[in-house]
Amino acid sequence: MEWETVIGLETHAQLSTRSKIFSGASTAFGAAPNTQACAVDLALPGVLPVMNRGAVERALRFGLAVGATINARSVFARKNYFYPDLPKGYQISQYELPIVAGGSLRIVIGDREKIVHLTRAHLEEDAGKSLHEDFHGMSGIDLNRAGTPLLEIVSEPEMRSAEEAVAYAKALHALVRWIDICDGNMQEGSFRCDANVSVRPLGSDKLGTRCEIKNLNSFRFLERAIDFEVRRQIEVIEDGGHIVLETRLYDPDRDETRSMRSKEEAHDYRYFPDPDLPPLVVSEAWREAVRAALPELPAAMCERFINDYGVSEYDARLLISSRDFASYFEAAAQRLIELNPAQLGNEEEARRNYGLAIAKGMSGLLAAQLNRAELDIAHAPVSAAQFAVLHARMIQEVVTSKSAREILLALWESPQTDESAIDAIIEAKGLKQVGDADELGGIVDGVLAANARQVADYRSGKEKAFNSLVGQVMKATGGKANPKLVQEILKRKLEG
Ligand code: ADP
Ligand code: MG
Repeated sequence: MEWETVIGLETHAQLSTRSKIFSGASTAFGAAPNTQACAVDLALPGVLPVMNRGAVERALRFGLAVGATINARSVFARKNYFYPDLPKGYQISQYELPIVAGGSLRIVIGDREKIVHLTRAHLEEDAGKSLHEDFHGMSGIDLNRAGTPLLEIVSEPEMRSAEEAVAYAKALHALVRWIDICDGNMQEGSFRCDANVSVRPLGSDKLGTRCEIKNLNSFRFLERAIDFEVRRQIEVIEDGGHIVLETRLYDPDRDETRSMRSKEEAHDYRYFPDPDLPPLVVSEAWREAVRAALPELPAAMCERFINDYGVSEYDARLLISSRDFASYFEAAAQRLIELNPAQLGNEEEARRNYGLAIAKGMSGLLAAQLNRAELDIAHAPVSAAQFAVLHARMIQEVVTSKSAREILLALWESPQTDESAIDAIIEAKGLKQVGDADELGGIVDGVLAANARQVADYRSGKEKAFNSLVGQVMKATGGKANPKLVQEILKRKLEG
């Protein structure tokens, strides 16, 4: 029997407001326990929640970015349960009427695209945290996190593999950072996923019974937890058993999921509208103002880069991996267009040529260097303008691409802010390309004399010998020879 995997994700994105969703206490990460919990977060008698406008605005940004419906009126509800880190005895969330309904996300899996539909996104508060490690025979409670604003984003059960689920989670992660509503820090728990997983016979359109794996805070754990869970479920069914609706936890040390609680014994949360909070009303004017303030979205920018700068779809996707990366690209491409090193008259042609050069440079040279240094582009020691000048010098054949790498590394080691730094380094390190035909001619003569065997090989028809000779000349000039000129001179001398 062949099986099909079905996955729906519930993602909690911590909204990047400075204060909590219903109180003025700080949301900053890492403070000493219970120093950021005020009377509202502690649920002292008589306190009243006050809605944080910034949290609502972030939910609106999200809803508009995914093309969802913004409900003009949404309702906060109490989700009742007992837990030591929940002093009120209920969590304030949205239930029947969430602020965001529907919408969709485009994901990319290899070279395949897929649209994943969203069910809803609702606002809610986070609970506190139980601390077990530093205490003997008891647990500590830290209420700093209580009342932190969350947006819970629920997908339709439309993912069909762990790979698709990871692609979805990554696209969502990139989007919430792009529109600046969540810092996306997964180690600190600012972005975490619950994966609902089921299997069914391939071809069936009835959903199987699902298990929910809670609180996955890395893409790798998400992938491994789903892979394990799918294998487990298939095994249970093929052994004649059946899957029970339950909540499971993933243990990364043992790479397996374990039952936490079955849904049959799950609480009845007795949701009801919170009488302390009036319905949340979003006027059309507010909604449209938020829409107008949204940055250009990744999908639109991707298309624009392909059309305007002539980059491939693959490169465009890489360029929009973050807003910082995309702005670096545009700034560098613009500067290169201004410098117009090849003196291209046609504006469209210039834009495409220079855009392509910068895109290639960023996906190759720059990305490699950023990876090696484990740096974010926002902290790259080479500015977009400097990167543009570097490419201008390559296009003008002032330096070779090998030297360009050396220049980039030099700037990396001792950063300077001015774009003239590129020319200063070329000068100081003597990296100017050797483009003088007489000078190169002399060097070529020397190489030919010292490599009689390869010369003979080439003349007897072994084309490969030519490349080796080019390599020898490049080596003799420390990588500074104009490669085109070297080929010309070599051809002439070998055939003449
Ligand atoms: P709950 O509120 O109990 O977690 P929901 O019905 O709201 O349940 O579903 C939560 C998530 O589970 C959604 O992302 C949904 O797409 C997903 N889901 C629902 N049924 C299945 C299923 N049979 N297999 C996989 N995912 C599912
Ligand atoms: Mg759930």
